Formats: sequence, C-alpha cells, structure tokens
Amino acid sequence: MTDDLAGRIAARIRDVPDFPKPGIGFKDLTPLLADGPLFAEVGRAIAARHTGFDVVAGVEARGFLFAAAVAVAAGTGVVPVRKAGKLPWRTVRAAYRLEYGEAVVEVHEDAFADHKRVLLVDDVLATGGTLAAAADLIGRAGGELVGVSVLLELAALGGRATLAPLDVHAVLAA
Ligand code: AMP
Repeated sequence: MTDDLAGRIAARIRDVPDFPKPGIGFKDLTPLLADGPLFAEVGRAIAARHTGFDVVAGVEARGFLFAAAVAVAAGTGVVPVRKAGKLPWRTVRAAYRLEYGEAVVEVHEDAFADHKRVLLVDDVLATGGTLAAAADLIGRAGGELVGVSVLLELAALGGRATLAPLDVHAVLAA
C-alpha cells in the first residue's frame, strides 16, 4: 500500500457521530464504495497482500462488498459469513459481541469443501468480536485460514489484540 492510497481512501470515509447509538463514531464507507476506480484498487491491494488462498470469505453485510472486490481481483470465489437465519443449507454458527450489540454468524457447513484455504475480509475491525467468530466458524467448517484483511482498523478498540495470534492486515488504521 502506498501512502497515496491511504490518503485517497481516508478522503472517502465519512465520520458519522452517534450512529447507530449515542457514543458510536460510525465510519461510513459508502463514498469509497461509490468511487469505482478506488474501490477496485482497494480490492487489488488486499488481494496482493496475501498468498496461498483459494477463496475469500466476507462478513455480512459490508464485508460482502470488499470480499467480492478482492475475489474478483484474485480470480477466486467468495463465501458469505451471514447473520443467523439467512443461509438456506445446514450451517455452523457462532455468537459474538459487537461494538454496539450482539449477533450470531453462520456459514454453510460445506462452504469450504472445494476451496479450503481462506482469506477472511471485513470492512472495519472494531473490537474484533466479529472476525474472531468468523475465524472460529471457518475452522469448524473445515477451512484453513491463511489471512485476514480489513479496510479500516479502529486501533483504539483493541481488536488486533483480541484476534492474536491471528495476524490482521489493515489497509488503513484510524
Ligand atoms: P467488531 O466485531 O467490534 O470488530 O465490529 C466489526 C463489525 O461491526 C464490522 O463488520 C463493521 O461493519 C461494524 N462496525 C463496528 N464498529 C464500527 C464503526 N465504528 N464504524 C463502522 N462499522 C463498524
């Protein structure tokens, strides 16, 4: 990643105070998503940071978008890590805490039957609960986690320590 890329990404992130609850500083990535060339560049930058993966797992919902961009850049498929009750087939599930609530995530139990080496992608690393749950699911569903990337790490929330010894790559830290 070049400093230039980080600066251009930062210019496309909108800070929204008190959303979805008072006290949460929400990072609105829709301006970045709307910038086609920059969005594609982010996908390529994340794909280039990792080797040895043959599928990209993305976490609902904004993680789907970044996972898809990375997968297109890398020429792989994607696996959706979804909120409870959304997937139609048999699933593996995990409950976790969010920065602003609780949730359950699921993957299909056969999601990694044909592509086992998984790059896990999400939009924002906050407390790390979401990615910890997703990493757990991937392992229990038979996947081998070979990398984790986020667009933006909220460093003050300590998610990186929660995920240790998993090594998380962040395109940008705030
Ligand atoms: P966490 O499990 O605390 O690391 O939360 C990560 C998930 O919640 C990510 O999938 C983000 O989409 C979302 N999220 C948490 N905090 C924020 C925030 N301040 N701004 C934007 N998204 C957030």
